[in-house]
Amino acid sequence: MLALQGLGVAYGGVDAVRDLSLEIDEGEIVGLIGPNGAGKSTTLHAIMGLVPVRSGDVLLGGRSLRGCTPETVAQRGVALVPEGRRIFADLTVEENLRLGLAGRRTREGAGEDIERVHELFPIVREFRQRQAGALSGGQQQQLAIARALVARPDVLLLDEPSLGLSPTVVDIVFEALARIRESGFTVLLVEQRAQRTVALADRTYVIGNGELRLTLTPDDAGDTEKMVAAYLS
Ligand code: ATP
Repeated sequence: MLALQGLGVAYGGVDAVRDLSLEIDEGEIVGLIGPNGAGKSTTLHAIMGLVPVRSGDVLLGGRSLRGCTPETVAQRGVALVPEGRRIFADLTVEENLRLGLAGRRTREGAGEDIERVHELFPIVREFRQRQAGALSGGQQQQLAIARALVARPDVLLLDEPSLGLSPTVVDIVFEALARIRESGFTVLLVEQRAQRTVALADRTYVIGNGELRLTLTPDDAGDTEKMVAAYLS
């Protein structure tokens, strides 16, 4: 579905991502973890066309996205939920969700898709009349993901959905991610919570200093030594 082939991205001549290759098949959740500054967000931004690709390629269903604007990338079926839960605080939960419908490529099935995200995120249904700004951080994160999903993207990119949330709320977000996985969505998940991501994802790529270091499978989540080594390598 989505493939990075030798991706390279630089800011002002300084490499942020180097020769990164990875693949996400349809229906997979793939994790991307690594220390601060490793190049995780930059990778998502390059896929989305928010920063220029310097070398290599980004392929969606075999077609290159290189050089596409973020609007074109979205139209081709990629959605990004950026770091920091950007919901519209003054609008209701339902209005926020409806804004996600604007990103759809077809008007058909909108009602069903809203129904489906309501099932995935019961709080989005329960609090639909509330002002989004009155929701807790974890609820806002669920709303941000739900809004991306109603656009029915072929690939969903999530940038650190658990950032800044308390441990119990992190549990709620990861439970929601597990439900998203069961619903068959295709997801690239950038996270700092390494162990939980490795346990959830079909495959997790570890990057350090812009380069691929290691690929982990759910079995590795219990292997503390391997997890620590992945970060120190
Ligand atoms: P974090 O978890 O802190 O978000 P990350 O793995 O997502 O880290 P990036 O944000 O992709 O890492 O950053 C990779 C490198 O690129 C870092 O060295 C960072 O300082 C640099 N960088 C990121 N954005 C910019 C920018 N807009 N201009 C210049 N350098 C940048």
